[in-house]
Amino acid sequence: MVKPEKYFYLEDGGIIKNIRELALRLDEISDSVFQRHVNQDKNDFANWIEFVFKEKNLAKQLRGVMDKKQFQIVLLKHFVRRKTKNIKKFKCPHCGKGFSTKVGLSVHKTIAHTKKR
Ligand SMILES: [Zn+2]
Repeated sequence: MVKPEKYFYLEDGGIIKNIRELALRLDEISDSVFQRHVNQDKNDFANWIEFVFKEKNLAKQLRGVMDKKQFQIVLLKHFVRRKTKNIKKFKCPHCGKGFSTKVGLSVHKTIAHTKKR
């Protein structure tokens, strides 16, 4: 959980609670508000991501990105990557291979580990 004092307060009064919310809400944040936080002189979002969430690599990728759409792409990619890494929680007991869904695992078991008669 992120404490209120760690929230990101937008110039227009909006509040963003975490990186995922930022990624999703960039669509509705206007270019002018975005540019007040991200410009030649500063990158408030990258700072916030680095210092509040300790996501140094993500922050590094975002520094220098001044286009809102591009910014959003970097953020969304970050979540896609993370998702595929964490989501393989169904492990095959026979070979240890990971699957994102129970169905995926059972299909694998059927194909790879069912003995042919
Ligand atoms: Zn297996």
